[in-house]
Amino acid sequence: MSGPVRLATGNPGKAAELARLLGRPVEPVPGWDAPEEDGATFLDNARIKARAGAAQCPGAWIVADDSGLEVDALDGAPGVLSARYGGEGLDDAGRVAALLDAVRDADDRSARFVCVLVAISPDGAEHVAEGRLEGTLADAPRGANGFGYDPVLVPAGETRTCAELAPAEKDAISHRGAAARALRAVLAP
Ligand code: IMP
Repeated sequence: MSGPVRLATGNPGKAAELARLLGRPVEPVPGWDAPEEDGATFLDNARIKARAGAAQCPGAWIVADDSGLEVDALDGAPGVLSARYGGEGLDDAGRVAALLDAVRDADDRSARFVCVLVAISPDGAEHVAEGRLEGTLADAPRGANGFGYDPVLVPAGETRTCAELAPAEKDAISHRGAAARALRAVLAP
């Protein structure tokens, strides 16, 4: 493969994280023009971004991701709306508080992070990889690492939340890590 994998994002931090997980150079699509993410599923949204990336950066390997939290007691919500849950204007802590409020009386606290990666090869072939991190929702936020809903998801077999894990510990079990590992074989030269 010549040249870096191009991630359908304008965020260099996200590209750096995927480069670490894939073990190869990843850079944002130059001048990334983000399409509207109006899909009903993580796969729909990752595909929308991957196809936009392929149109904006022909000839490169393109990867796009979409991810979020699914809560069984909320029928899979917040799902594709994870980044906007609870309404506009909330920060991560506000969204976590809104989520804990929504599951206050729920007996079933099972939840998972899901990540879908869509890769498009220079000749237009599409590949899909998915990773999941199953767990349960804590009663209150704990930990200072990570982002988003990390302070409230306790991975299966753990007592700590994702925000209490060291970054390398989370990478080893995370939805994003699992999806990236599944994509490594596809991207292998
Ligand atoms: P995006 O795919 O980066 O846009 O992420 C969507 C949203 O899902 C984020 O804003 C977070 O709220 C949530 N999310 C996705 N992955 C994680 C994670 O690893 N930890 C915590 N929250 C996550």
